[in-house]
Amino acid sequence: MSTEQNEGTKKIQKRSMTPERRKRINRLKKMIMYTVVLMILIPTVSSIILGVRLYRTKRTVETMAGQISFLEKALQDSIDAADRAEALLEINEGIWREYEAEQYPEMIQEQEENFENDDIAEEGRKVYLTFDDGPSIYTEELLDILARYDVKATFFVTGKGKGSYGDTYRRIVEEGHTLGMHSYSHEYSNIYASLENFQSDLEILRNFLYNETGIVSRFYRFPGGSSNKVSETDIHEMTAYLDAMGISYFDWNISAGDATNMSFSSDQIVEHTMSQIPSHRVAVVLMHDAADKRSTVDALPKLIEAIQELDDHTEILPITEETMLIQHVPSK
Ligand code: ZN
Repeated sequence: MSTEQNEGTKKIQKRSMTPERRKRINRLKKMIMYTVVLMILIPTVSSIILGVRLYRTKRTVETMAGQISFLEKALQDSIDAADRAEALLEINEGIWREYEAEQYPEMIQEQEENFENDDIAEEGRKVYLTFDDGPSIYTEELLDILARYDVKATFFVTGKGKGSYGDTYRRIVEEGHTLGMHSYSHEYSNIYASLENFQSDLEILRNFLYNETGIVSRFYRFPGGSSNKVSETDIHEMTAYLDAMGISYFDWNISAGDATNMSFSSDQIVEHTMSQIPSHRVAVVLMHDAADKRSTVDALPKLIEAIQELDDHTEILPITEETMLIQHVPSK
């Protein structure tokens, strides 16, 4: 009953609407419709646009990640190449060293006076272990061994200027070994081309070592020895220069045999060296500290023990101002 009444009222209302009112309602309806459509459309379109952008960004990130890993690989490749080049350089140095040792073993000029075994008992025998060409990957190990036996040696170093051996140069000095010079570049063709080249190479090494260690080295070993036949500069010009600089140069009177083409085993190095030491009152032993000289490292403990067991009069010392000059070509 009441429903019929309500419907009746609505019909009456509808019928009584003016055209303006209807228009307004229609406009309102349209507005509501548009609003609803826009409310649906805007988020949808936005989502699509964002989705596309996100996809593109993702692609870009993926591409960049690919490029980064490519660059990383390229970098690693060039690091590997640099390592290989360095190893090759060390091998080339090894070839030079062979040259040193093979050419001149017979030219060694003994500056020792003849001695009797009684002299040894009285004055003692001095053995100087010297290592050329370092620092190398083995220097720390050599230093460990020397420390274990409390033995001091002499390192005739070259200039490894990449900064990676700074601690090693310092350790040589700090642990009481003698820091000697063996040219900065170790390139015979350069340092022996002229006196000027020799001087400038020496100057560079001297300053370099001073910066690394705070020490001004006063000892030199000519690459190839003072008796080398490679030099295009008169050796006497160079020794006079060293003399003027207050630098003593040392050759050797015993070659441990680690510089030869045959590359001795560690036992052969010990045997070869020990066969020569008894005939010297002052023995300067040439050895090498280089990447291809593993057998020298292995020989060192055995060699030290053999020298220490030789007799009661033999001692191992680092080169100092007091050391008798052992020179193939005498300085004066
Ligand atoms: Zn050398």
